[in-house]
Amino acid sequence: MLEVEGLVAGYGGSPILRDVSIRLASGDIVGLLGANNAGKTTLINCLSGLVSPMAGKILFEGQDITRATSQQRVELGIIQVPEGRLVFPEMSVRENLLLGGFCDRARPHRPAQMTKVLELFPRLQERLSQAAGTLSGGEQQMLAIGRGLMAEARVLMLDEPSLGLSPLFVQYIFEIIDRLHSDGLTILLVEQNLNLTLRHAQRCYVLERGQIAVEGDADVVRDDPRTRQAYLGL
Ligand code: ATP
Repeated sequence: MLEVEGLVAGYGGSPILRDVSIRLASGDIVGLLGANNAGKTTLINCLSGLVSPMAGKILFEGQDITRATSQQRVELGIIQVPEGRLVFPEMSVRENLLLGGFCDRARPHRPAQMTKVLELFPRLQERLSQAAGTLSGGEQQMLAIGRGLMAEARVLMLDEPSLGLSPLFVQYIFEIIDRLHSDGLTILLVEQNLNLTLRHAQRCYVLERGQIAVEGDADVVRDDPRTRQAYLGL
């Protein structure tokens, strides 16, 4: 569904990602693992169009989207749930969700999509009028995911959804990820939580200093000693 070939990208002319190739098959959860600064967010930002690659290609369902704008990618259903949630703090939960469904493709279906999102996250239903900035970290993560779903995501890219959450919330977020997967959504899961990601993803890539160090089925990646080395930044 989504293919990245030989991607080189960075900032101010200095590459961070060097010759990165990954593939997401439709309906899979693909884990992208790596230590701090490995380049995981840079890769997601290339996929959402926030960072322009210096070389390489990004294909979505066979269509070359390497130079497509972020807006065009959102219209295709490539949706990023950013690290740190980045909800609009002064706006209500309802307004944040409605904004998620603002693109042309999703706008006509916002009421139906809102019902689905609130079924998935009953806690948001109880807090629809509350300012998003006053939600707990876990609730803000629910809102950020819900906002991404409002855009009728076809590929949902979650950047460190478990970061800073209590163990119960982490478990809950992974249960939600599994539910979305059983509904057929394609998910790219960027995580530092190695064990949980290996348990929930079908395939994984381990990024080490801007390059793919290990890739394959989750079982294979789990058993490869290079995974833990790369992860620990050894
Ligand atoms: P983490 O797990 O800590 O979020 P990461 O694997 O997502 O790390 P990136 O955020 O992609 O890594 O960062 C990779 C490198 O790119 C880091 O050295 C970072 O300082 C650098 N970098 C990220 N964003 C920018 C930017 N806007 N300008 C310059 N350098 C940047």
